[in-house]
Amino acid sequence: MLDAIQSQDPEIAALILAENRRQAETIRLIASENYASKAVQDAVGSALANKYSEGYGGKRYYEGQENIDEIERLAIERVKQIFGAEHVNVQPYSGSPANMAVYFALVKAGDPVMGLGLPHGGHLTHGWGVNFSGTYYDAHQYPVDRETELIDYDEMARIAREVRPKMIIAGISAYPRVVEWDRFREVADEVGALLVADIAHISGLVAAGLHPSPIPVCDVVTSTTHKTFRGPRGGMIMCRAEHAAAIDKAVFPGLQGGPHNNTTAGIAIAAKEALQPEFKVWAQAVVDSARALGEQLSERGFRLITGGTDNHMIVVDVTARGVGGRKAAAALNAAGIVCNANSIPFDPRKPWDPSGIRIGTAAIASRGVGAEHMGRLAAWIDRVIAAPDDAAVAAAVRSEVREFITAFPAPGLLDS
Ligand SMILES: *Cc1c(COP(=O)(O)O)cnc(C)c1O
Repeated sequence: MLDAIQSQDPEIAALILAENRRQAETIRLIASENYASKAVQDAVGSALANKYSEGYGGKRYYEGQENIDEIERLAIERVKQIFGAEHVNVQPYSGSPANMAVYFALVKAGDPVMGLGLPHGGHLTHGWGVNFSGTYYDAHQYPVDRETELIDYDEMARIAREVRPKMIIAGISAYPRVVEWDRFREVADEVGALLVADIAHISGLVAAGLHPSPIPVCDVVTSTTHKTFRGPRGGMIMCRAEHAAAIDKAVFPGLQGGPHNNTTAGIAIAAKEALQPEFKVWAQAVVDSARALGEQLSERGFRLITGGTDNHMIVVDVTARGVGGRKAAAALNAAGIVCNANSIPFDPRKPWDPSGIRIGTAAIASRGVGAEHMGRLAAWIDRVIAAPDDAAVAAAVRSEVREFITAFPAPGLLDS
C-alpha cells in the first residue's frame, strides 16, 4: 500500500504507519473524528487531486472537466436526496470555510450576528473573538442556562430583540442535546434575521433521522463531511433556492479557487453510504452507545453536562473527581483512550486547562463497538481518572484497551 512512499520518503512512510497503528490500537473518543471507509480514502488519494476545476458544473474556467462535472453532480444529487435540500454546494474546503462563505454571502462586515458561545458548546466560527467571525462582525453570543445547561432560548430571544442580528447561527460543537430549530425560527422571524444551522457534528444523525432536520426550518445549513457524516475532510452548504446564487458566488470566486475534486468524490461516496440502510443502524448504535456510556459514567459519580446526552457527545465535568480536563485527557491518552479537554458552561477554569472532557461515540461505532461494551469503557475511564499520575495504571489499561479494540478492525486503516 505504502510502497511508493516507502521508497521515496521512508521517514514519512514510517510516520504514516505509526499513525495507522495508533488509530488501530487506541479507543478514539474524539467527538469530531471518525473512520472514513476505504472507498472514501481511496477517492481522496486518487488522481482527481491533480485536476483544477474552478467554477461549477457546465461552467468551468479550465478544459477537461467531463469527469469532474459528473462527480460533482453525483455528490450534489446524493446530498440533496439525503437531506431534501433545494440547493447544495460541496466545494467548501472544510467546515470553517463553509461558514465563512455563508457570512460572506449573506451579511456585511460590521453587521450584528449571533451564535452560541464557544464555552457553551458553540464553534469558533459562530462569533468567537479570536476568529474572523468575532473580528469582522458585531458578534453577540447567547448562552446555555446556568442550571439546566440547555440552550437558553429565552435569553437568545432577549439578546436578539436587543441587537437585531442580521443572522443567527444555531449549531453545536460540544452540546449533547437536541437543538430546537423551531425556537430559533420564531426568533429569527420576529427580528428579521436569517437563520443558519451548522450541523457539522450531527449531520450523520440528521441523515439517519436521529436528530430533527434543520433543512425545512432554516435558510442555510452548513456541515463538515468528516464527523458523523463519515466522509472525507470537507464541508458543504445546503440552502433554499433563493440563496443559491449568493452562496455559490461566495464559495467561488469569493473565497476559494479550485475545489478539491478528490474530496468531492469522497463526499459522493460517503453520501451513497449514508443512503444505505446500514447507515441508520450505525447511527442508532452511535446514539445508543453515547447514552449507555453516559449512564455508566453517571453511575460511577461523574457529572455530565445537562445530565446526559441525546446525540453522539458527552461532556463530563471531571473537576469533581479532583482533576482538571487537561490532565484527565492526557492521562486517558496515556492509557490508549483518546478524547479532548473541553470547557464546560460558565467554566471557572481557563480554556487551555478547562473543567471538562468531551467524548464522542461515532468513531468507535464505526468499528462495531456498541452499547454493550460501554460498561468496560466507563470502568477504564474511571480507573484512569482516579489515578491520573499513576504510570502503572496507564500501562495496564493501555494493554487491556489494545487487546480489546484490535478485535474490532477499523475501516480504512492500512494493515501494519
Ligand atoms: C467542526 C466544526 C466546524 C469546523 O469544521 P473544520 O472542518 O474543522 O473547519 C464548524 N462548525 C461546527 C459546529 C463544528 O463542530
